[in-house]
Amino acid sequence: MIIVMKKNATAEQINNVVNWVESMGYAAYPSRGVERTIIGAIGDDRGKARLMSAEIMAGVESTMPILKPYKLASRETKEGNTTVTVGNVVIGGPEFVVMAGPCAVESEEQMMECAAIVKKGGAHILRGGAFKPRTSPYSFQGMEEEGLKILEKAREKTGLPIVTEVMDTNNVDMVEASTDILQIGARNVQNFALLKRVGQSRKPVLLKRGMMTTVEELLMSAEYILSSGNDKVILCERGIRTFETSTRNTLDISAIPVLKGLTHLPVIVDPSHAAGHWKYVLPLSRAAIAAGADGLLVEVHPEPEKAVSDGLQSLKPKKFYCLMEELKRIEGCIKREVQVVS
Ligand code: PEP
Ligand code: MN
Repeated sequence: MIIVMKKNATAEQINNVVNWVESMGYAAYPSRGVERTIIGAIGDDRGKARLMSAEIMAGVESTMPILKPYKLASRETKEGNTTVTVGNVVIGGPEFVVMAGPCAVESEEQMMECAAIVKKGGAHILRGGAFKPRTSPYSFQGMEEEGLKILEKAREKTGLPIVTEVMDTNNVDMVEASTDILQIGARNVQNFALLKRVGQSRKPVLLKRGMMTTVEELLMSAEYILSSGNDKVILCERGIRTFETSTRNTLDISAIPVLKGLTHLPVIVDPSHAAGHWKYVLPLSRAAIAAGADGLLVEVHPEPEKAVSDGLQSLKPKKFYCLMEELKRIEGCIKREVQVVS
């Protein structure tokens, strides 16, 4: 249920409503907009009728049901866009954000070289997988804890915040101690125990769309994180499985404006895992920024031919620099700040 406060409602009246909602066993999520405050009352739907009686409280204008099943992720419960701040980087704000780095941390030397390239190109956040979700149990599974330590060194050297994947609830403590953003990979998008656990973290979560996940299912997964107490969620479109086989996945460009219309959360795009080939990364990145994405997640490697995973889709340094240059030019002509669909 949404409780809409009057324009001139006082802080005390807002507090009274929040306390009243909580006293009935519901969680209250006040959202202070420019015009007025709205309070999302989230909990068992069966109590709807009782919540409607908020209308008789001082300062309350009206109540209305939240129509979407993803209540906290929905634009219905929050005015404006959520921004997620990591160090000096703001994700979901007027500036387009680039997260880049290798698929996997392979060695200290490789990661440091990648980090220097990513920094030189002007990206904002450094990526690298220490725990790798691989289709085959015989493939390289990641450097795990040692990989996290290397990522920490790369952050120290470059000053760039880190994003890395966490695959297992048992490792969340370890990964969140090292990283700035916790990544939930496509394969874990509906691992509800993991979603609830990262929902208890204070670190932002980059939630990737699963290859078989609808937009609504992705938002329901975000809802698990939000309702567990973490409001710093970034969504990532990374391609879905379709009948098409000429690319690794099919980048769902339409998901960008669709998500932007439905949710206040930032939306970024991973063209590397979508396409599966470096050749398509630049054109898909152009499309992503033009369609209103808040940023990109791109794989970059100094020697892709030697990469232990995803070499084919990794950009060489020169190509990455070209991409960064082009993105700046595109960003300059699309007025990102007026693109918000409401
Ligand atoms: C990754 O970003 O390293 C990754 C494994 O991507 P996805 O979960 O989208 O396949
Ligand atoms: Mn990869």
